[in-house]
This record gives sequence, C-alpha cells and structure tokens, in this order.
Amino acid sequence: MTTTTNIDDDLVALQRREFDLRNMISRLSNEQLGFQGDILEFIQNMDEKLKTTTTSTQAYQEASSQVDTNKSQLHELVKEKQRLEAEIQAQIQGRVMDQSEYTQLETRLDALLEVYDALMEKSEVLEERQKSMNCRICSERTVEFALVPCYHLCYCQPCTETLTECAICHEPKKGAQRIYYG
Ligand SMILES: [Zn+2]
Ligand SMILES: [Zn+2]
Repeated sequence: MTTTTNIDDDLVALQRREFDLRNMISRLSNEQLGFQGDILEFIQNMDEKLKTTTTSTQAYQEASSQVDTNKSQLHELVKEKQRLEAEIQAQIQGRVMDQSEYTQLETRLDALLEVYDALMEKSEVLEERQKSMNCRICSERTVEFALVPCYHLCYCQPCTETLTECAICHEPKKGAQRIYYG
C-alpha cells in the first residue's frame, strides 16, 4: 500500500507541480504579453517620438529655411532701400544741379532780356528817329527839306513842293531849304 500511497503522493505532487507550472506559464504568458505590450507601446512611443522629432526637424528645417528666405528677402529689401536712397540722393543732386542750371539760365535770360529791352528801346528810338526821318505828310519818303522861315525839318521834296504852310506850326511857306546829313 505504501507504493500505492507513494504513487498517490507522487501524483498529487505532480498535479501540484503541474498546477504550479500552469500558473507559472500563465503568469509568464501574462508577463510576456505585458512585456510585449510594453515593447509595442515603447515602439509606438518611439515611433511617435521619431515622428515628432522628424516633424520637429522638418519644422525646424522649414523654419530655418523660412528664416533664411526672410533673411534673403530682408537683405534684398535692404539693398533695394539702399538703391532707392542712392537714387533719391542722385535725384536730389540732379534736381539741385537742374536748379543751379535753371538759376544760371534764368540769370542769363535776365541778362538777355535786359539786352533785349535795351535793344527794343534803342529800336524804338531808332524807329522814332526813322519815323522822324520820314516825311510828316506822306510818311514814306525820307525828310530832306526844312520849310522857311520856320525851319521845321519834316518833309520830303515832293511834299515840300505841294505845301503852302508848315504842317507843324502852320507858318506860311516862303521857301524850302534842302538839308544834307553827314
Ligand atoms: Zn512827303
Ligand atoms: Zn513849321
């Protein structure tokens, strides 16, 4: 009976062992599942982190690129501003030069106008003199005769011949004297 008892005991022991092993397997399986889960979560986290890192890198690169673009644009703007400032300066200088030139031209024009006025005045005087040199009667021929006795020097030869009195002072004509310019 001892053997039977021993066999029974062994069987119980084996059953306990089996139970323990099954529990252990179950626990290990759970742990493994848990571990697998942890691994998966870790991998997912890593993926997310990698994605985030990638996104951050891309974002950084984009931002950096944008900054470079902005810097480039800013540089272009600065250059454009400098160019415009130079152009404005040139225009201002040009305008000053134009103004200076204009002032010089105005001065020259004033001088020319003075000369012109003087010439016009002289011309008028000459014209008046020329008119005075024209016969007071016909206004065409040159004055050559003074009437006697008033001696108004105002008449051409044909008009002198027709006059009976002076057209200026109405002194009766007694004679005429030819005048010679020299
Ligand atoms: Zn005349
Ligand atoms: Zn007269």
